[in-house]
Amino acid sequence: MIKDFKYFAPKTLKEALTLADKYQDEAKVIAGGQSLLVLMRQGLVAPEYLIDIKGISELSYIKSDAKKGLRIGALTTHRAIEKSPRMRDGFAVLAEMENRLASIQTRNWGTIAGNLCHADPAGDPAPVLIALNATLSLASVRGERNMAVEDFTLDYFETALEPGELLTEIRVPATPPHTGIAYTKFNVIESDLATVGVAVSITLGSGDGICQDARIALGAAAPTPMRAKQAEAVLRGKKITDNLLREAGEVASTEAEPISDIYASEEYRRELVKVLVKRMGKEAFTRAKQA
Ligand SMILES: Cc1cc2nc3c(=O)[nH]c(=O)nc-3n(C[C@H](O)[C@H](O)[C@H](O)COP(=O)(O)OP(=O)(O)OC[C@H]3O[C@@H](n4cnc5c(N)ncnc54)[C@H](O)[C@@H]3O)c2cc1C
Repeated sequence: MIKDFKYFAPKTLKEALTLADKYQDEAKVIAGGQSLLVLMRQGLVAPEYLIDIKGISELSYIKSDAKKGLRIGALTTHRAIEKSPRMRDGFAVLAEMENRLASIQTRNWGTIAGNLCHADPAGDPAPVLIALNATLSLASVRGERNMAVEDFTLDYFETALEPGELLTEIRVPATPPHTGIAYTKFNVIESDLATVGVAVSITLGSGDGICQDARIALGAAAPTPMRAKQAEAVLRGKKITDNLLREAGEVASTEAEPISDIYASEEYRRELVKVLVKRMGKEAFTRAKQA
């Protein structure tokens, strides 16, 4: 049963930040409630104060600019991202990822920031945003700070948010020319969380097929979403071939720190990393050649 709490429904960010600052650790922010309510029902989280930010319309938007890239307000739902025409300008991978996240009902109500702040290592958005080199804006009554998505999650269900701080915006830089990005997850039940998720971004030099830059991000393969930096180094500066992608997959599977749980053993997850890095590397390479 859910323990009693005092409920606030601020209509502006300023109001929400003032409440979050006043009640600090005794308060919880709720957005779509798709993750928080489950924890509250289980009695794992029992806030004294609940700050419902869903009604703050100034935090729900998707803006894009050819030079600056994409800006997504914290309260943007998964479904809004999935359906946004703005994803066509180099960010199709975000819409593809959202299309496989949960059910339509959950996507209609759950928010991208809520997903990141819940910090489930199996969440879909974080690996994709890491491959896209995205950053976050965090705000409190003291001001704003920015942070790379890859630095945001500190441990299982733990983020770098300070008490009184809210995630307000996700910023995705414009995709460099000749870049392809691909994401997939392996899951047993369609639309369920990832057993392992892999996002790969490959940037090619113009016309020569040489990998100028690569970013490989893994989900559900460690306590936090992680970059496989040694695997990225395997690709950088070389001509992409099937053998090179296989080597990158093998290196990524040794870098991963997966656990065994009811969904998969550690060994099985390492095998998934190996296979999916190669597969997504191939897809990203194909997309980069067409970009
Ligand atoms: C049936 C089901 C299936 C699911 N399947 C998937 C899946 O396949 N892939 C996947 O990635 N996820 C999945 N999820 C998880 C879900 O998509 C996300 O966790 C959800 O989108 C969270 O968003 P929310 O707005 O509902 O957050 P809430 O539940 O409201 O909040 C989640 C956490 O974030 C904090 N928070 C929310 N917004 C902010 C903010 N702006 N600033 C600071 N803190 C904030 C809250 O305090 C809370 O700790 C599933 C969930 C359900 C119920």
